Amino acid sequence: MIKCPNCGGVLNYNVKEKQVKCEHCGSSFDPKEKIAPTKKAGESNDLEGKVYTCSQCGASLMNFDETAITFCSYCGSQAMIESKMMVQTKPDYIIPFSKTKEECIEIFKRKVNKSLFVPNYMKSDLVLQKFRGIYMPYCIYKLSYSGPKKEKGSKYSHRSGDYQYYDDYTIEFDVDAKYEGLSYDLSSKLYDRYSRAIPFDDKEKEEFNPNYLLGFYADTKDVSGDIYLNEAIITAVDDYSDKLLSMKEVRKYGCSSGYIDFKDVEQKVGMYPLYFLAIRSKDQKNVNYAIVNGQTGELVTELPVSYSKYIVASLIIAAIIFVLINSGLVLNPKEVCAIASGFAIIGLIINIIQNGKLKNRETHADDKGIKSVKKDKDKIKRFSAVTFLILVLAVVIPLVVLASGLVRDIYYYASALISLGLLLITFYGLLKKHNELLSTKLPQLEKRGGDESE
Ligand SMILES: [Zn+2]
Ligand SMILES: [Zn+2]
Repeated sequence: MIKCPNCGGVLNYNVKEKQVKCEHCGSSFDPKEKIAPTKKAGESNDLEGKVYTCSQCGASLMNFDETAITFCSYCGSQAMIESKMMVQTKPDYIIPFSKTKEECIEIFKRKVNKSLFVPNYMKSDLVLQKFRGIYMPYCIYKLSYSGPKKEKGSKYSHRSGDYQYYDDYTIEFDVDAKYEGLSYDLSSKLYDRYSRAIPFDDKEKEEFNPNYLLGFYADTKDVSGDIYLNEAIITAVDDYSDKLLSMKEVRKYGCSSGYIDFKDVEQKVGMYPLYFLAIRSKDQKNVNYAIVNGQTGELVTELPVSYSKYIVASLIIAAIIFVLINSGLVLNPKEVCAIASGFAIIGLIINIIQNGKLKNRETHADDKGIKSVKKDKDKIKRFSAVTFLILVLAVVIPLVVLASGLVRDIYYYASALISLGLLLITFYGLLKKHNELLSTKLPQLEKRGGDESE
């Protein structure tokens, strides 16, 4: 633990001033200098901190001063269990925070205020104050190849009778390829879909320095960097191949694919800065995440739709349509019937798409990190057979009436009304699924109970 050398007080890294400051006596220090002689922090090969484990979701957070971690940034729970000092291998690199917490809250507020259907509780200052600066372990790959390479090419030459003749070429060249900054987060708690959305500028990374951690949390890594190696290689090989095939000299000889076997693979660990906020839903069953990149200020969040706001908006739209129809836009009963059936078909398609997404989410098909540590699946109830049946009825009923060639208008209007009514019933379910898709179900919460409010 690094303490103030003048008074023994708690030190924090001040993002705005780019200085390490003492909370007690106000001294400030250059983070690039060694601050405290107490422990040879800069020289040792270890990173020492206190680990707190969340008894609800299992997340482990580290901090580096005497203050306690009072709530879990991943689920909002206050059931944090302090464990002993933990010694980790020192990371290789760090990107210091360059956005302050206030800037981060501003960025989030700007986004939320633009979104019409966001529930009010997501805008409360009490909630927003819980944004926490967390250093996330990232695995950084450097792939390089330098040396001679050969590729094969084949080109049409001429035709003779039934035969086509091709000339084969061997293209020899020298390659000097270097891929840096292919980075992947090493915490299974941070979903890949979030980390991919707010990438870091790898060029600004510095040699690891524990002074930047002061006043922030750090996540502990629970995913091996090896699982992303393949992805990094594929990314680099694809790019290499694109570049190679875009060269005139190479295309001229009919080369159609390029492959490179990166012999030099360097794997390093860096601590990258994120502001993290878990917002619990009103019923305390789900959390929505808001994550701001502490270097670039980019935000990723998935905002749920407020049911009450949605209903109000729908009523307003319905009123506008009603007025329009009354003011002369006259549809004949058959058209009304066809339109109703058309709406139901759209409803059916949306439901099927949503269902596919929920299935992916359930199996974490898009996230190597989680898949590597998580064996049990999140149980998300999917689109039921009943919903499917209701929607099929909503499509079919107006079509049957249309086909029957009934004379009285009332049948057409009635079937359109029934169809739209059925569609509305499924819409509530759809909205619920939409919100589920954008949030993460809290584990064990039903058993333990928990409260985000202080
Ligand atoms: Zn001091
Ligand atoms: Zn937790």
